[in-house]
Amino acid sequence: MTKLAYLHEPGVLHNLACRYSLNEIYTYTGNILIAVNPFQRLPHLYDVHMMEQYKGATFGELSPHLFAIADSCYRAMINEHGSQSILVSGESGAGKTETTKMLMRYLAFMGGRSGTEGRTVEQQVLESNPVLEAFGNAKTVKNNNSSRFGKFVEIQFDKYGKISGAAVRTYLLERSRVCQVSDPERNYHCFYMLCSAPPEDVKRFKVGDPRSFHYLNQTSCYEVANVDDAREYLETRNAMDIVGISQEEQDAIFRVVAAILHLGNINFSKGKEIDSSRLRDEKSINHLKTVAELLMCDEKLLEDSLCQRVIVTPDGNITKPLDPDSALQSRDALAKTVYSRLFDWIVDKINNSIGQDPDAISIIGVLDIYGFESFKVNSFEQLCINMTNEKLQQHFNQHVFKMEQEEYTRDEIDWSYVEFVDNQDVLDLIEKKPGGIIALLDEACMFPKSTHETFAQKMYQTYKSHKRFSKPKLARTAFTINHYAGDVTYQADYFLDKNKDYVVAEHQALLNSSRCSFVANLFPPLPEESSKQSKFSSIGTRFKQQLQALMETLSTTEPHYIRCVKPNTVLKPGIFENDNVLNQLRCGGVLEAIRISCAGYPTKRTFDEFIDRFGVLAPELVDSSDEKTACAAICDKMGLKGYQIGKTKVFLRAGQMAELDARRAEV
Ligand code: ATP
Ligand code: MG
Repeated sequence: MTKLAYLHEPGVLHNLACRYSLNEIYTYTGNILIAVNPFQRLPHLYDVHMMEQYKGATFGELSPHLFAIADSCYRAMINEHGSQSILVSGESGAGKTETTKMLMRYLAFMGGRSGTEGRTVEQQVLESNPVLEAFGNAKTVKNNNSSRFGKFVEIQFDKYGKISGAAVRTYLLERSRVCQVSDPERNYHCFYMLCSAPPEDVKRFKVGDPRSFHYLNQTSCYEVANVDDAREYLETRNAMDIVGISQEEQDAIFRVVAAILHLGNINFSKGKEIDSSRLRDEKSINHLKTVAELLMCDEKLLEDSLCQRVIVTPDGNITKPLDPDSALQSRDALAKTVYSRLFDWIVDKINNSIGQDPDAISIIGVLDIYGFESFKVNSFEQLCINMTNEKLQQHFNQHVFKMEQEEYTRDEIDWSYVEFVDNQDVLDLIEKKPGGIIALLDEACMFPKSTHETFAQKMYQTYKSHKRFSKPKLARTAFTINHYAGDVTYQADYFLDKNKDYVVAEHQALLNSSRCSFVANLFPPLPEESSKQSKFSSIGTRFKQQLQALMETLSTTEPHYIRCVKPNTVLKPGIFENDNVLNQLRCGGVLEAIRISCAGYPTKRTFDEFIDRFGVLAPELVDSSDEKTACAAICDKMGLKGYQIGKTKVFLRAGQMAELDARRAEV
């Protein structure tokens, strides 16, 4: 792409489209690898033969490929002992996770120990993918295998360049999906896998037809094209073996998965007392029994924890019944909490069993995280996701800008007036403490009388004159943020609920008392202080901190960027939708990178190249002086302003190359 004479939007787009039609899905734009999802298997593109070819090849010699990026990372690490990172981004379905897996395969190929028997570290790293996907991926409108969490995999290398450990960090699993799914989406894959397990397991875990479970039958989608849930169950079990999850642990995991399904089938009706509730019917009673059996906890305690709350007062505890609606909410809260603890447990287990290498010389980190989102209705999740993207965008801009500056410095040109546009103001608006949106939200969550409306009013007041914030006309709870990738309007309606992460004390006590140590360990006892009241902890703030830690890790590495692009919304090969792709290039910062480079000197030509091309404009000058002087003389003769002559190259401002070309055409 950078060899194109004119680097601008239509040129970039046209180039990508042409290459895509030839199945050339990878293209470099300066530092960035653009990967367009082929939506068809291209097996030869990723086989061992291909890996052999890219191994040690000079960057840029072979066709653009993600293996080339992985290889240059690996070699940079070996040669300079510096840590590297590969940041993969793109919208849902663009191919981030597939790209990440291929990168990991290449790194395992380079850093694996040949001839080692059994479970090697690199095998464990690779097999962590199917395990995480079983519990963290689901079919959505946009992608049949959509990751509902962000992931940073840190692969550690020893002084011989061999993989010696790894750590997986995950971000913000979508919890609401456990209890709430709509057509044409599905719940997490693991639920369907378990329902399609071999008969003895179906019986053992007391599951059956997915159509019989409320958490699965709110949508009419049960199957995914080309996915065999029965086979996936066995493969997941196998992958769990490899990453070091024991048979007993696996059984416990699937018992918890089954328990969640039964929990969803418990219903309530009005009880005898006012505003109280009881189990609705025989069926609900049976499901409650099954949940208690599967979780190995007390049936009565389970029922109470769903239908009552204990309120702590100075005069002692008071038991307050819950009405059927609140009981239903309590049930769903329990399901979500258990599921997210289960997911975290799996991630921890993978990390413990792969093991960290405290003596690692350096790391290569691979980031697979949700891209910028802007839907018809945007909520708290989108705000967190877009905050992530603002942060990564800032990191990216700073890096691209730094690289440009380094080149200018190397060639000793004056670049003092090249302006750098920053998105710090958007980040401040969202995450500044105090005063940012997340801080206001936390305040609202701690104040018992707040509602989403008072929260919205507070924002309207606070950010009245903020350039990046606006209130849509007639809005009562909606607000718009002007992100680097465009305006997004958020509905504040569920922000308070979604930001609160507390485990109901009764649920905590119930599960901690489980006779199954696995379940009890998912809910370790809280320290004395906080167990008395369900203390508020903020999901937004925790996420912000995780993100901060991630950025700190990234800042110690040399970054490499891969932008995945989804060529069409029908998920079919061969279709390239221009507007759609252009928008993704914009959101992925590709156009911003082009813009940054245009703000400086987008075209650089060595003296040689320059004279080859433009010598005809002033043949008399070329013969009578040295190359450097001749280049300057040509520019002056053509009336160019603001160009620079460095030590080895001519640096042209945006548009000047086109000007010279036009003059050349006249000669
Ligand atoms: P999400 O944000 O929803 O997790 P994603 O960017 O991770 O999306 P993937 O799951 O990686 O998207 O890709 C979606 C689908 O596109 C894959 O399931 C696969 O069918 C296809 N796909 C992506 N990349 C490739 C590739 N390199 N070769 C063949 N098919 C691909
Ligand atoms: Mg994914």
